[in-house]
Amino acid sequence: MAQLLKGAPVAAALSAELANRSDALKAQGVTPTLAILRVGERPDDISYETGAVKRCEKTGIAVKKVLLPAGSTSEELLKAVRQINGDPAVHGCLMLRPLPDADAEWAACCMLSPEKDVDGVTPSALGTVFTGRGAGYPPCTAQACMEILSYYGIPLDGKRAVVIGRSLVVGRPVSMLLQRRNATVTMCHSRTADLPAVCREADVLIAAAGQAGMVDASYVRSGQVVIDVGIHVNEAGKLCGDAAFDAVEPVVEAITPVPGGVGAVTTAVLAKHVVEAAERCL
Ligand code: NDP
Repeated sequence: MAQLLKGAPVAAALSAELANRSDALKAQGVTPTLAILRVGERPDDISYETGAVKRCEKTGIAVKKVLLPAGSTSEELLKAVRQINGDPAVHGCLMLRPLPDADAEWAACCMLSPEKDVDGVTPSALGTVFTGRGAGYPPCTAQACMEILSYYGIPLDGKRAVVIGRSLVVGRPVSMLLQRRNATVTMCHSRTADLPAVCREADVLIAAAGQAGMVDASYVRSGQVVIDVGIHVNEAGKLCGDAAFDAVEPVVEAITPVPGGVGAVTTAVLAKHVVEAAERCL
């Protein structure tokens, strides 16, 4: 049986000091505050928002929701970002993505103040991820994968890491963060030839393709660590990941469950970034 790399203890360790740090900030007249910018009513967004709000409540962070109707124009989105930028009470912004209009989304990411970018969406934060320099925060999900690997003491130095996915949200940043920890990284995508064979070469396999159950027994071998980033609702209405858990778990050394794996850690990383951003304001 594989070791289950549960997210809850990682999230607890990350959040441990946050409530105290929020109290210390409040004693100095600063309430750490996260703005959540959501366009429309996508169930995925609402589900993530609910988790983020709960985490903020537990860690003493105030939440200000900025809600725009589905079909809002690019100008309306940019106006909302400008208002968040100009609101001195807001220390961090979580923009729920993807937005239907990718160009409008990128324009909004570029407009967000770098100091309020707690989810690594601005070019400035991505620059930090790629160069290892600067004060930007990495995207929370990519960082959550790294926190899990660190918490469970998974060695990365000189190890082979394979990442399925090359999005700016997960695949690309986590590849850079793994490389910074001296893993040898292969970043895969929908055009990668013989993906199962590439994945079997991994010591650490990060599955972030957004395809339910895609990683089956043919993608894995014994001794591997699998970090499953995917979140989907299957035909039975249950949450599942990119890995076909029942097929993969008996083969590998360790695996994150879905639910209860990466998702649980992502909101803890977000809360940590918000408290840090508020501390930087002082
Ligand atoms: P995207 O759709 O933006 O990117 C998916 C990537 O996977 C793309 O690079 C795509 O390749 C690649 N891909 C898709 N299908 C295949 C395939 N069959 N074989 C190989 N590569 C493939 O998704 P995100 O990066 O935003 O999210 C990935 C997953 O992570 C989703 O399930 C999402 O729900 C989940 N997620 C979880 C979070 C958490 O907190 N746990 C937070 C954010 C996301 P190409 O570039 O060629 O199209």
